[in-house]
Formats: sequence, structure tokens, C-alpha cells
Amino acid sequence: MSLFTAVEMAPRDPILGLNEQFAADTNPNKVNLGVGVYYDDNGKLPLLECVKKAEGAMMAAPSARGYLPIDGIAAYDAAVKSLVFGADSEPVQSGRVATVQGLGGTGGLKIGADFLKKLSPGAKVLISDPSWENHRALFTQAGFTVETHPYYDAAKRGVNFEGMLAALKAAPAGTIVVLHACCHNPTGYDITPAQWDQVIAAVKEARLTPFLDMAYQGFGNGIQEDGAVIGKFVAAGLTFFVSTSFSKSFSLYGERVGALSVLCENKDEAARVLSQLKIMIRTNYSNPPIHGGAVVAAVLNNPELRALWEKELAEMRVRIKAMRQKLVDGLKAAGVTQDMSFITTQIGMFSYSGLSKEQMVRLRNEFGVYGTDTGRMCVAALNSKNIEHVCQSIAKVI
Ligand code: PMP
Repeated sequence: MSLFTAVEMAPRDPILGLNEQFAADTNPNKVNLGVGVYYDDNGKLPLLECVKKAEGAMMAAPSARGYLPIDGIAAYDAAVKSLVFGADSEPVQSGRVATVQGLGGTGGLKIGADFLKKLSPGAKVLISDPSWENHRALFTQAGFTVETHPYYDAAKRGVNFEGMLAALKAAPAGTIVVLHACCHNPTGYDITPAQWDQVIAAVKEARLTPFLDMAYQGFGNGIQEDGAVIGKFVAAGLTFFVSTSFSKSFSLYGERVGALSVLCENKDEAARVLSQLKIMIRTNYSNPPIHGGAVVAAVLNNPELRALWEKELAEMRVRIKAMRQKLVDGLKAAGVTQDMSFITTQIGMFSYSGLSKEQMVRLRNEFGVYGTDTGRMCVAALNSKNIEHVCQSIAKVI
């Protein structure tokens, strides 16, 4: 009898489980579309030139590594604020945004969740059905009851917007609603700007607490375009949370670079909120690591490197869109008669393919094409070499 006798084995992470199965697969044509990672046309994880240049400059003048301030590198936090809200925006200019460096987007979400639990212990959390799996787990772990609002409409191959709106309108005041700012994961379906206006009106009317998850800024239609939703929330006079991730947009997955920004009513409130966010950080991991934040700050705050980043990010975005089109064309050429053009209306890294669990299992076992059981495929892992095999394989199971 030990302290741990009653400890149960937790279920395996479904995506990591897929990765293990993929690694063990001996099929020479195997393709991993299960991951949420961008690969270049050679199937390689890119190391961006802007990152290499920033790191080169750091290596040339290495510095000692003291502790960072609890809320991270000041120049980093300032760069995040400017990126999320606009450098000349009223919230930034008036100093009413509290921003802290976080351990990836996940860390930003968790700091926000912990702070919210202290602030509104009885609030419920609403996430989309479906959502990024960790949304539910993370807010549950922070002590919240997590429920879903309608989102994906399989029959329509799109968003059940009426259902979503009705659920928001019916939610009790104070409910925390987690919204994907762009590039919805896992479906790839975003709502339109006009629909965002309706969501914002509903959130305001029902006095909900919006938490915008911005994990893919620049992967949809552009940095400004993807960030436009933030401006809409600001214009509506709302206070809200935004988590930022640079994992994808800088291809810095393992550096854990992200942030949490909280838009407050005024500067004084922002200072008080910041002081509370710092307690969440201090009692979890004390202060963030230096390297990733320093790289991102160096790039965002240097006009030349920033321009290079925007160019490289645009290349990733354009390549994903090209792969979506190639997938639609390739499926047609492979004999798929049903209309697959919805793949090009989706946005970001993922596509909900509409394939059933049985079809996804067949794709995996017979053809070495790995996506999740829900039918999600990472189009950012398609390339000119594997697309033909993927199209042929899907055509055989459809
Ligand atoms: N939110 C969403 C919707 C995501 O898809 C992800 C990454 N898969 C994250 C947050 C977390 O990003 P990070 O890896 O930076 O923690």
C-alpha cells in the first residue's frame, strides 16, 4: 500500500498517441496530418530567417541570464500589446492593457484562467463545440465548470451560427466565453466579420466575459486582418482577455512564447490587474524564460526583422492556401465526385474533412495517412510530395 496505490492511469493524449502510432508505422508513404504544426514543402519544421538573424545577433553579443521580471521582458510585452491592439490604438496609448509574457498560448490561457477563478469563482466557462481539446481541460483544471455552445454544423459544412448566438444570449451574466480569434481549431471555419458584430452585441448584452484565444494570428488572412476582431471588441467598449501564441507564427513551438493581455477600463485598473497576474505567475513558475521572448521582441521591435517576419509568415499562409486548393483539385482528379470545395473556405492550419471515424481509421491503417478520429487534418503538413498520396487515399475511403 503506497501513497499512489489508488492513482489511476490517465487517458493518453489522443494526438500524442497518434504520433506514437505514426512513428511505428513502416509504410514508406506515411503522412502525419494529425499534428498542429506547420511544415514547409520539404516536410521540415522551418527555422525562420528572422529568428536566425535575431539569434545570430544575440550570439555575437552574448549576455548573462539573470531572472526576468515576473511579467517578462518589458520590450516583449510592449511588442505584444502593439501587435494585438495596434501601437497607436487608444487602449495602448492610454495604458489600460495589462500584458504578461506567458509560456506559450497555453500559459497565457492558464494565467488568465487562474486569475478569473479568483475573480469570479462561480462563473461557468463556455467553449465552442468542438474546440481545441485543451480549452476544456485547462479551464476544468483551473476549477471551472466548462460547457459548450453550438459551433460546427456537419450537415451544413460550416458554423451553426444561430445556435451559437442563441447559446451566448442565454448564458448567465459573468459567463466566461472562450472565442477563437481566428483560424478555428479544429474545424477551420471562422465566423464572418458581420457575425462577429452579432457575437459582440450578444456578449455585451448578456454581460459575458470574453476570452479571445489568438493562437494563429497571421495564418488566416494576414496579421492585420486576423487581428481585426480585437479592434471590434475594443470599439464595443468591452473589457476582455486575449491570449497570444507565437508558437506557429514564429515556428518557435518549443520555446514556449506567448502572452496574456487583459484590456481594462482604465490605467489604474490595468495596474491592479497586472499586480494580480504577477501573483499567478510568481506562484506557478516565478518568472518566464528568456530566450524565446527575447527573439520575438528583437524581431517585432526591429523594422528590418519585422518586415522579414511578415514576409515569412505570409509565405507560410500562402503555402497553406495553395495546399487547400491542391487538395480540392487532387481529390477531384482522384475521382471524388462530392463537392470538396469547402476545404478552401476553411482557414488556418486545419480542415475538418467531414470524414467519419471509420474512414479516418482506414486512412491510417491501409494508407498511412494520419488524421484525428474526428476527421481533422492538418493542411499545413501537406506538401507537393505527399499530396498525391493523400488525395488517392482519401478517394479510396470516401
Ligand atoms: N489555442 C489554440 C486554439 C491552439 O490551437 C493552440 C496550439 N495548438 C494553443 C492555444 C496553444 O499554443 P501554444 O503551443 O503556444 O501553447
